[in-house]
Amino acid sequence: MIMGELRDFVAELMERHGAAVEPLAGDRLQVLAPTPLRAAFGWPELAQLSFGAQRPRDAISIGLEGDWLDRFGSLLGESGRWASRQLMACTGEGPSDPERVLNRSLNFPNATWRFQGLTATFTRCMMLTFRYSAFSDEKYEGLVRIGLNLSTGAVLDDIIEELRSALAREQWQVPDPATRLGSSSRLETAALEAKIRALVDHRVRGELKLFLRAMHRRMDRDRRRVHEYHEDLRKVPIKRLSALAEATGETPGAERKREQLRMAAIEREYQAKLDDLRHHYATRVVVEWLQGLDLYIPVQRFAVLIRRRKGERRIIIDWHPAVRRLEPPPCDWGLGLDHARLVCDDKLHLTGPEGQAVCRSCAKRWCRACAPGGCPRCETGSR
Ligand SMILES: [Zn+2]
Ligand SMILES: [Zn+2]
Repeated sequence: MIMGELRDFVAELMERHGAAVEPLAGDRLQVLAPTPLRAAFGWPELAQLSFGAQRPRDAISIGLEGDWLDRFGSLLGESGRWASRQLMACTGEGPSDPERVLNRSLNFPNATWRFQGLTATFTRCMMLTFRYSAFSDEKYEGLVRIGLNLSTGAVLDDIIEELRSALAREQWQVPDPATRLGSSSRLETAALEAKIRALVDHRVRGELKLFLRAMHRRMDRDRRRVHEYHEDLRKVPIKRLSALAEATGETPGAERKREQLRMAAIEREYQAKLDDLRHHYATRVVVEWLQGLDLYIPVQRFAVLIRRRKGERRIIIDWHPAVRRLEPPPCDWGLGLDHARLVCDDKLHLTGPEGQAVCRSCAKRWCRACAPGGCPRCETGSR
């Protein structure tokens, strides 16, 4: 960030907090700050802030060094973490052959479907960024971003990254009230939280896979080394004990006893070393939420009728014109990251294949969306 940007940022921040700001010559701002702001920064009622390279005596010098950024950041608080955007409707044209789009991406192995119609509308998506830090013998950190279509419930796993680039490319505005009202969330708060948690967990595990694999390799190597070292130590008393095996009398008996004690000491030390290693490689993962984006985007909404045996169910799936892709169909159990969906017999739930898998105890299929607690046939509640 160059000084001009810092000056503009501070000016905007001050104005947002009720200050009157006037730019002066020489990279300065004159700030008439309200009391809370003055108290927070220790400024006089009329302060001159200087953003130049020199540190003038008659102004407060603001720079990137020191704790200025932290202090301004604390002023931003939670408000800097949330943003709302609405992509303009110009990207809202639909696919030329809707049935073909469905044919290419729908995958319902145990059900049939029929295209029922296409509507241009706005949908509400949520984009959340999290920072994860894994602490072990080494530290590893990074960011994961997840996306959800709140109006359809779909997980926008990779689509969200493309939507981000679209946001940088296309025109956007602050969402207008009509769009906000017309595209609300279908997910209840608890369900939304559970979904976000599961998604973040899944993504962080994926990100940490290589880090954990490398750590396990180091741990195995250290374990082997510790093991070999103590095996060597053990050889001496073992050799002596076998030499003493045939001997009788008082002296050999005392020696035998001493060697057995030595063996036990080696064993204790070995276990203590293993404990040290476990401690050294114990992994702790911290995940914190960084930013959220409430995104209103034009979509083409497909209505699709799903048929399974005698039942039928109507679902909606959004096609995103900004990235020209169909999102995955809704999923009533599990993450639903890919497009394959099985339909359950009783309530026509849509789940990934694992959501209708056979029970490990009774080998019968059951729907995890119908009975999330466990197999309904088995009293053990087997999963
Ligand atoms: Zn069962
Ligand atoms: Zn079901």
